[in-house]
Amino acid sequence: MTELDPVAATLDAVHRELAPLDEGELAGYIPPLLLADPSRFGLAVCSPEGRLWSAGDHAEHFSIQSISKVFAFALALADRGLDAVLERVGCEPSGERFNAISLEADTGRPDNPMINAGAIVTCSLVAGDSAAGRFGRILSLMSACAGRDLTVDEGVFAAELETADMNRALGYLMRSAGSLTADVDETLWVYLRQCAVLVTADDLAVMAATLACGGVNPVTGVRTMSSDVARHVLTVMATCGMYDASGEWMLRVGSPAKSGVAGGVITASPATFGLGLYSPLLDAQGNSLRSVRACELLAERFSWHALAVP
Ligand code: GLU
Repeated sequence: MTELDPVAATLDAVHRELAPLDEGELAGYIPPLLLADPSRFGLAVCSPEGRLWSAGDHAEHFSIQSISKVFAFALALADRGLDAVLERVGCEPSGERFNAISLEADTGRPDNPMINAGAIVTCSLVAGDSAAGRFGRILSLMSACAGRDLTVDEGVFAAELETADMNRALGYLMRSAGSLTADVDETLWVYLRQCAVLVTADDLAVMAATLACGGVNPVTGVRTMSSDVARHVLTVMATCGMYDASGEWMLRVGSPAKSGVAGGVITASPATFGLGLYSPLLDAQGNSLRSVRACELLAERFSWHALAVP
C-alpha cells in the first residue's frame, strides 16, 4: 500500500472520520459480547484479484454471529437445491426483528434464511450424519471462503447455549408447524456453534469477495460453492440481510450485505469487491453503527449502488 493508492487512502479517511463516533450500544444478550471494546473499528476490502486493503482494527477477532447464516444457507442450497430449500424457508423480507416469531400462516415456513427462525431451519437442511458433522461442514465452508482455518470461541458458544430460550422456542414452534423436522436441541447446537466462530474484518472481506467472485475465493483460487449458489445467497442478502433495516440499506448503500450482532458486516458487489467491517456498537436495528455509516460513505465515494446507471 502506498500513500497514492486511492483505495487505501479512502479506507483510512473513512476510518479517521468515523472512529470518534461513539453512539450505539454493545449487544448485551450474552455477557461475552458486553466485554467488547466499544472503540474498536476495522475495515477491509478484497478485490476479485485477491488483493486486500485494510484499516483500523482489521485484525481484531470477534464472533461472526448472524453472518454465519449466509454460509449455512449456501450449504443447504448446495445439498438440497433451491426448490427443496424454498419448501421449508421463504425468501421474503420479514421487516421484523431478527428473532421475531413470524411464520407464514398457511405453510409454517419462516420468512427467510437471514432471520433466526429461517437460519435454524437452514442448519437442519445441511447434510451430515450428526450435529458435529453438519457443523463441521459449515465451518469448513466458512474457512474455505476466508482462506484460513477458522475456530470457535468456546466462551461465546457456552453463553449462547445458556441463553437460547427464544431460539429454542422458535425451534419448537417450527417443529409443531412442520417447517423444522430435525431435533430442536441438535439443530440449535449447530446454529449457535456457527454463530460463535471467530473472524476478523480481513476474513470477512475475503469471504464477501468469494461471494462476489461467484464462489471462487480470489485469494486461494479455491471454488467453495457453485456460481448459482453464490448468486442465490447474494440475492437473499440484498433483500433480507440487514435485519429490519434491509430496505433502507438497499436504498442508501445498494449492495447485498449481512450483519451480525457482535458488530461484523459483510457486503459484496459481483465481480467488483468484497468488504468486511467490524465495530461492536450497534444501532437501533442491531446493525454495527460505524460499519453502516462507513458503507454509506464508501458507496457514495465509489458509486457502487447495484441499481445505479454506470
Ligand atoms: N447468536 C445470535 C442469536 O441467534 C445471533 C444473532 C445475530 O447475530 O443476529 O440470537
